[in-house]
Amino acid sequence: MLIPKKPNQIPDETKRVARTAFPKGNMYMDLRDELGAIYEDEQFAHMFVWRGRPAESPGLLALVTVMQFAEGLTDRQAAEAVRSRIDWKYALGLELTDTGFAHSALSEFRDRLVDGGEEAHLLDEMLAQLQERGWVKARGKQRTDSTHVLAIIRSLNRVELVGETMRRALNDLASVAPDWLVSQVDGDWFGLYGPRFEAYRLPKEKAEREALMLRIGQDGMRLLRAVYDETAPDWLWEIPSVQILRQVWVQQYYEEEEKLYLRTKKAYRLPPSRRLIVSPYDPEARHRLKRSTDWVGYSVHLTETCDEEAPNLITHVTTTPASTGDTQMVSHIHQELAAKELLPTEHLVDTSYHDAQTIVDSRAHQVEMVGPVMSNNSWQSKDEEAYDLSCFFIDWDTKTATCPNGKQSISWKPHKTRFGSDMIAVSFSRTDCLSCPTRERCTKAKTTARGLTFRPKEQYLALEAARHYQKSDEFKERYKVRAGIEGAISQAVRAFNLRRTRYIGEAKTHLRHIIIAAAMNLTRIAAWLRRVPKAQTRQSRFAALAPVN
Ligand code: SF4
Repeated sequence: MLIPKKPNQIPDETKRVARTAFPKGNMYMDLRDELGAIYEDEQFAHMFVWRGRPAESPGLLALVTVMQFAEGLTDRQAAEAVRSRIDWKYALGLELTDTGFAHSALSEFRDRLVDGGEEAHLLDEMLAQLQERGWVKARGKQRTDSTHVLAIIRSLNRVELVGETMRRALNDLASVAPDWLVSQVDGDWFGLYGPRFEAYRLPKEKAEREALMLRIGQDGMRLLRAVYDETAPDWLWEIPSVQILRQVWVQQYYEEEEKLYLRTKKAYRLPPSRRLIVSPYDPEARHRLKRSTDWVGYSVHLTETCDEEAPNLITHVTTTPASTGDTQMVSHIHQELAAKELLPTEHLVDTSYHDAQTIVDSRAHQVEMVGPVMSNNSWQSKDEEAYDLSCFFIDWDTKTATCPNGKQSISWKPHKTRFGSDMIAVSFSRTDCLSCPTRERCTKAKTTARGLTFRPKEQYLALEAARHYQKSDEFKERYKVRAGIEGAISQAVRAFNLRRTRYIGEAKTHLRHIIIAAAMNLTRIAAWLRRVPKAQTRQSRFAALAPVN
């Protein structure tokens, strides 16, 4: 298939009519005049096969996709805008008589991006062009923050989860192998798994709910055994909803001596939230409770430039299942910014991104993390008279710690936490501690010795230095700039509905976030070209009266 070349020149007639209709120009015309076509067909050529039905110009579809999100249009409305709006024709370099394309070309284009794992392409190609113009630079300042994204699914309790998982598998099997399925099911399955589980009045008593879950569990096991039986068609087990049924059953039940049991807190606990499937309709969505926000779905992390002399532009977008912690993302963000040659010198983040590990890891990229780190929450650190970790002398060479009473530790044990962080556990002699005259300032344990837990040397020293630095006026002044990322999140939420996804799965949700980021950049460049001043961080009138420290 030959990919039609997207016109690089604006046809004269389009130019003349657009200039008459918009004598002072408008956002899209300004962008076209300044940036040209933005996307080229060649940038997307690798996503297209060279046979089959002719496609629309991929560069044109890419720009229409971003413009569509900038205005919050549906596919039909965007295709209509291409056909009928003069400013769109100007931006796209089309003849006035151009009839555009069928609206389905837009969803096909998005599918191609997801299928090819090219979600980030729309933003990266735009950034490459902005880099050439010097509007985005490496080694400046950037800031990152995240927000929650609700999956397009209902929250389910455990009974509804297993019931709906079974229902979904039965419905899919009924579509592809109805005769086989009818020969496997009992008559009462139609009553139980026919309607949606949300339509049931589920038992209120815990014992009755558990009995219902076990009944569903036994039915599910029977179905799985039938699917995996050698007499069943080979391909049945490959059906995605059957695989989800298998995974949910492994997570929710266990078998002992051929009897099925529910996993509970006491016996064979449920897997951690990062693994726990919460709905058969979006098996990649996860549950998370972060401070007062409780949600099922994803998290999105936005990184933007924040240098004074340039527009603030989104440089990176990451979408993760909700259960992924913010600190886990710092290394990933730095690696991807390095690949785009867009690493900052200063990376401004809040406490959720900033810990000893991220400080040390970011040094490999010559990035300075600027932000508060978690304070030491031990009771000793809150009591001025008590001996907190800083009162102990740590000798990294001899691997010993010396307490304020001059006693030396008797053990030094490096270990990993369940989250994979390196730690060192040190303990003192029980004999020394039990006879210590200042014991009450050191430990509340009545019969055991004082123990310490801290990070390996490089991380420990980095954390101590960060805790010391964050008390300085210089830090407070530098950190003020981070607050601006709240404005970027607010713009994305209010103007682009960032916190709700319309799609199932992480890849499509990520694509949506990428397009939102590209659309935000488009609107921000347009504002920059029109010399619209950058918005200031909002403050209530009362808050503005607060005395400056
Ligand atoms: S309790 Fe033990 S570790 Fe603490 S000061 Fe006394 S001897 Fe040292």
